[in-house]
Amino acid sequence: MPSARKDNLDAEKLKAAAINEIDAHRNQLSELSLKIHSNPELAFQEVKAVTWLTGYLKENGFSVDQGICGLPTAFKGSYGQGKPVIAILAEYDALPKLGHACGHNLIATSAVAAGVASKLTMDRFGGSILVIGTPGEELYGGKAIMANRGAFDGLDIAAMVHPNVKNTATTQFLACQTLEVEFFGRAAHAAARPEAGINALEAMLESFAAINSLRQHIKDKARIHGIITDGGEAANIVPAHSAGIFIVRAEDDSYLDELKERVINCFIGAATASGARLEYRWGAVRYAPLRNNLTLARLFRRNLQSLGRKVHLLDPANSFGSSDMGNVSQLVPSIHPSIAIAPAEALIHSPQFASAAVSEAGIRGLLDAAKALAMTVIDLVANPVIVTRVKEEFKRGK
Ligand SMILES: [Zn+2]
Ligand SMILES: [Zn+2]
Repeated sequence: MPSARKDNLDAEKLKAAAINEIDAHRNQLSELSLKIHSNPELAFQEVKAVTWLTGYLKENGFSVDQGICGLPTAFKGSYGQGKPVIAILAEYDALPKLGHACGHNLIATSAVAAGVASKLTMDRFGGSILVIGTPGEELYGGKAIMANRGAFDGLDIAAMVHPNVKNTATTQFLACQTLEVEFFGRAAHAAARPEAGINALEAMLESFAAINSLRQHIKDKARIHGIITDGGEAANIVPAHSAGIFIVRAEDDSYLDELKERVINCFIGAATASGARLEYRWGAVRYAPLRNNLTLARLFRRNLQSLGRKVHLLDPANSFGSSDMGNVSQLVPSIHPSIAIAPAEALIHSPQFASAAVSEAGIRGLLDAAKALAMTVIDLVANPVIVTRVKEEFKRGK
């Protein structure tokens, strides 16, 4: 029998074994997911989640390095050795007030489940499976920091699955950066001496007006949105200080650079008009756009469909946010598919989605995500030619 054919047969058997292994751990996995959900920890404070996740990996034969990249709640679990090196990424931070309304408890649990279910494959074919714990996705772009500190160097492939209201093999993520703005004016009695004041709030409102005008003439997928965090103290005082936070997003890095400059010009114009002094700071972390590796995405899609889900290759809703997975995808061929755990009308980052993340549909999503990830690992390790194709696509896109 030609060896390629034999490897394929083995791959099918390994897939069946991975599915059985994940089903056999169903109770343990759903308990792990529930525990993380009922102990929500904010970005970079995910101490309990990391203890439980790394505990599960160690119990199942992984070696674990915790606190990598100078981040106490980042970790790397590894099993096997040599090439290819395939990483499954885990997120486990919660949102302020809303808890696990982004379902990261499911991401984390599916990642460790898929890692453990890939062990037999590494034993059979060689290669390394990593589960990389990436903290602080929601607030600080943990993966962007880890990417700068070399956490993803030497990987051949990176993948994670995010819960959502649809099954898609790819995701659109925009490049983005946060901007903090302050205006400094001069306080005065708003009725008695208005001519003596410099109104920092008006400068902020002018900025919003200028940005609203700009928004009519920017490219389709670009986004500019912001809030006012300080608008003055009392209605009878000319506001001496105003502050706001904005996010600027664009489909690619060069358009983001252009847009950033145009947005700053809106603030400079408002400062000139009002006489208030402007200060601004761009966020330390810049999110890169997501590069979807379609070879990988198609492979994942086939595996997830084999579990009985209908999976879109591209997102039919054509919606887009941003994620630090974008930064990983600039370095390593990556996928960030979505798995449906809630009805189409549910909103991510809402209390309804937090409930979905512990529902029966949430558990099914966790298990299917883990299975499809493990099956994709099997395809890649059993067929080195696919890894080559994935890498060729990545190089072509650079
Ligand atoms: Zn989120
Ligand atoms: Zn999320």
